[in-house]
Amino acid sequence: MADFTFPPPPRPSLPIVGSDHLFPVRRIFCVGRNYREHAREMGHDPDRSPPFFFTKPADALVRDGVTIPYPPATGNLHHEAELVVALGPGAEVFGFAVGNDLTRRDLQAEAKKLGRPWDMAKGFDQSAVCGPVHLMGKTGPMSAGQIALTVNSEVRQKADLADMIWPLPDILAALSGMVKLAAGDLIYTGTPAGVGALNPGDVCEVSIEGLGSVKNTIGETVAPS
Ligand code: MN
Repeated sequence: MADFTFPPPPRPSLPIVGSDHLFPVRRIFCVGRNYREHAREMGHDPDRSPPFFFTKPADALVRDGVTIPYPPATGNLHHEAELVVALGPGAEVFGFAVGNDLTRRDLQAEAKKLGRPWDMAKGFDQSAVCGPVHLMGKTGPMSAGQIALTVNSEVRQKADLADMIWPLPDILAALSGMVKLAAGDLIYTGTPAGVGALNPGDVCEVSIEGLGSVKNTIGETVAPS
């Protein structure tokens, strides 16, 4: 087989709690509008919205503790606290993690208005915050438990995973009807109400009962080189 003409990019990965191995990330899927109060705050009728999906590139992944430069091309960076499902061999649920689906809300609003894709609103560099993977064998299925997000220790989002419109089995059924899911896939399961702005210097922490937390500082804007 021919050699690559330059070294291939590194494989994005996550640490696994209680293991020396890394979880190799293949694709990142995200569910839109999966909590009623968040659907309402975004101006939608939650009872009429079937689940829909968007993606982020795998190399948008950011681990716990990393300082994230305020992204370029936005004046309204938003946080979204989310449960992340990690799939393993056979596309079976492998584990769970705490995530933050960072969003350029101004670009998303413009895309919605003009009927354009969400990619630049959702799939920008360092937009997929994800903590370490907790093995499903230790946690059991995560169908309930508190999810919360603070900015500078002030609570902005607080809900229960049981409030999801589409629980995990429904998400997996819907998504696997559209694409072939595989080991290494991450699924962000949607955010509860209370999304809001992040600014340079803010410390944003997401926590989920039983999964600990992820904490990231927002840095100054650095233009992409
Ligand atoms: Mn989201």
